[in-house]
Amino acid sequence: MLPSVAVPELPEVETVRRSLLPHLEGRRVVGVEARRVRLRQGIEPDEWRAFEGVVVRTILRRGKYLAVTGDEVSAVLHLGMSGRLAVADPRQPHAAHTHLVVHLDSGRELRFVDPRRFGSAVVRPTRTLPLVPPLASLGAEPLDDAAGGVLRDAAGRTRVAIRNLLLDQTVLAGVGNIYANEALARAGIHPGRPANRLSRRRLDRLAWAVRETLEDAIAAGGTTLEDGGFADATGEAGYFAVDLAVYGRDDAPCRGCGRAIRRFVLTGRSAYFCPHCQR
Ligand SMILES: [Zn+2]
Repeated sequence: MLPSVAVPELPEVETVRRSLLPHLEGRRVVGVEARRVRLRQGIEPDEWRAFEGVVVRTILRRGKYLAVTGDEVSAVLHLGMSGRLAVADPRQPHAAHTHLVVHLDSGRELRFVDPRRFGSAVVRPTRTLPLVPPLASLGAEPLDDAAGGVLRDAAGRTRVAIRNLLLDQTVLAGVGNIYANEALARAGIHPGRPANRLSRRRLDRLAWAVRETLEDAIAAGGTTLEDGGFADATGEAGYFAVDLAVYGRDDAPCRGCGRAIRRFVLTGRSAYFCPHCQR
């Protein structure tokens, strides 16, 4: 299992998207209860009034953001550190820190819960979505074929540690600390290595490793989903179990060579690696 402090990254957000889609697609929003709260981008009840009457066309994901889109306006949501989205029966009691409730014509409701308030929930015109900050500044989607070229170009321009470059959302969107460390382990690259010291071949391998790591995690989430998923949960269901190679495993044996995984702090955040398998 991921540590309890796990922050949602691209695979978790994608799993949430897939779990919500069958409950939201084609549904009309018949009411919104929005509490004015100070999130990273605050919830403005006036703004959310524009979401009433919307027929949900689809849910898009961009990096770690979700856009519940209607023809005219869309809700742009970010789970932050602790945010959760769940479709619930109105009779189920609200969890603490339920900031937003969207009533659907199915009789059910979409709830946004965020105890630590690092998330965001805003309403924007659908046609401007690609231009809306912060969506406009996001880098390549790591699951797209273009991601390899984007990573190579960015790496050539900077001496920052490669782990930090992977966390830069303007380069690749959606990779957080867990999957950055996991992808580096898979690619055999030391997290602290300066980006511009990596060969083209190793950067291509890293882009492949990022994609494989994220796709494996999404597949693991999909398994959870078939069991009932967490769309129907009141919110307590956590993220899915992913078999992590290095993250959170300091002093445990490397699965490749048996030597101890090491942890060090890189720009204020933990990095994990095998000193034998990662160079
Ligand atoms: Zn090893």
